[in-house]
Amino acid sequence: ALQFKDAQEVFDLIDRQFSISNDVLVELTKTFLDEFKAGLSTYNQPMAMIPSFVTAVPDGTETGTFLALDLGGTNLRVCEVVLNGDKTFSLVQQKYKVSDKLKSGEATALFDYLADSVDAFLTTHATTEYASPTGEPVPAQGDVHLGLTFSFPVEQTALGSGKILTWTKGFSAKNAIGNDVVKLLQGAFDRKRMNVKCVALVNDTVGALLSRAYTAGGCIAGAIFGTGTNGAYIEQVSSIPKLAGSPAAAKGGEMIINTEWGAFNNSRTHLPTTPYDNAIDRLSINPKFQAFEKFISGMYLGELTRNVLVALIDATPKPLLFSGKSTAILNKHYGLDTSFMSATEEAWISDNSSDTAIYTHPPLGGEFKKEDLNPRVVAKLDQIRRVIVEHLGFQEDEVSLKDAAITRWICSLVARRAALLSGVAVATVLIQTERASLKGVHAPKRDANIKLGVGVDGSLVEHYPNFRTILRESLRTLVGEDVESRVEIGLAKDGSGVGAALCALMALKSA
Ligand code: ADP
Repeated sequence: ALQFKDAQEVFDLIDRQFSISNDVLVELTKTFLDEFKAGLSTYNQPMAMIPSFVTAVPDGTETGTFLALDLGGTNLRVCEVVLNGDKTFSLVQQKYKVSDKLKSGEATALFDYLADSVDAFLTTHATTEYASPTGEPVPAQGDVHLGLTFSFPVEQTALGSGKILTWTKGFSAKNAIGNDVVKLLQGAFDRKRMNVKCVALVNDTVGALLSRAYTAGGCIAGAIFGTGTNGAYIEQVSSIPKLAGSPAAAKGGEMIINTEWGAFNNSRTHLPTTPYDNAIDRLSINPKFQAFEKFISGMYLGELTRNVLVALIDATPKPLLFSGKSTAILNKHYGLDTSFMSATEEAWISDNSSDTAIYTHPPLGGEFKKEDLNPRVVAKLDQIRRVIVEHLGFQEDEVSLKDAAITRWICSLVARRAALLSGVAVATVLIQTERASLKGVHAPKRDANIKLGVGVDGSLVEHYPNFRTILRESLRTLVGEDVESRVEIGLAKDGSGVGAALCALMALKSA
């Protein structure tokens, strides 16, 4: 428990615990580069650096109609994607829930559910290109081609096959690891006599890169900041020693690498770990794995925040938050969703005024008199109070303005650290591909003076206020202002669906 003499000590301690200096960011980037190189050199490294076997990047002229199935986080998604060949696409999709029982049960049950979902989608949503007037798929029209976006570590052996290495993000289905995920899915389609052929397997980060390249006419990296975090980038095949002797190596050129950067520093020798991070890891379903992800992604930020809030509630000799009261939501493991954090920060920045230093903490340890506060600040804190009441299950009169200020401040600390660390990952890609040097001390060897496209996807980067701004702040520190200013971070909307469609097209072309 947090013990203190002077309350301000506690707030200063938390502030120090969650702050990262520029020097630490630089050191982390060096380690990140080392882990990139280790993963490119040999198999079975924590940072898996998985070759995707995608060797071409779309330019927006691709055409065709495909099904895409996306498994990788909170929802399962089935969509039909029409690539129009002019950088535009149309997409119809349906989300299906994946129950905890399916996540941790037998793999065959999970894959049968995936096939059932595709079947349901085909009968209710797909266009006439696939379905007869009765809604039934028509075998005479031949196979429906599907690209699978599977956002877990897979050792890919071709565009259309790959072995599951581990589960992440709350999945633990039995008898899946070590098996070919495409075979598992195709087996389920075949058992149900569906005329759907899974022709391509793609990671969501690779999908984000591909779809951004399609809509923007080019892109160098893809990144996900959603339930989990991961990134992909285009690497020279000659810089992937572990492919030596393979047909891919003989062919040369470029290949997209799925980094699996969520596993950065699993040894946790460098990540600035707090006791709250230790608790997250210890009580997670995958202790000592996905170390970086646990500092960054949507699945964990809410839980980290909850841990800090509860520590303040339980502080001795007197509580420092909510007068020592807690709620069922706050007491529950993973009870606080990351979207709560977004909501408090949205309230704080709602009127666009810059009169409150957003990421420095007010003197939270001392007296907190409404009369001393700017009325605009009071209005914002009142709004945050309402967010707290609504999301955490307190009564109106149980949340003070000071409670609101403290809660919002904790959220911003936890999220700011996540965004700064996210910048480390993006900087590493820029340095690895010689588009930047560490701290920007040398001129880039490659792509000087041109825009550098990064396609991103995930609720965190899409919705969290200032996430991208802080990520860029970190990038500026790590690669200098010139390169940072040329990085174009754009949403890869529907990236997994469009990416899977593009990948299915590539697989058909190369078959
Ligand atoms: P997935 O990564 O599973 O495909 P998302 O990109 O929607 O799906 O990410 C879901 C994660 O994002 C969850 O962990 C959730 O807590 C978090 N999240 C959802 N809404 C928001 C929001 N408004 N702000 C920040 N995080 C959010």
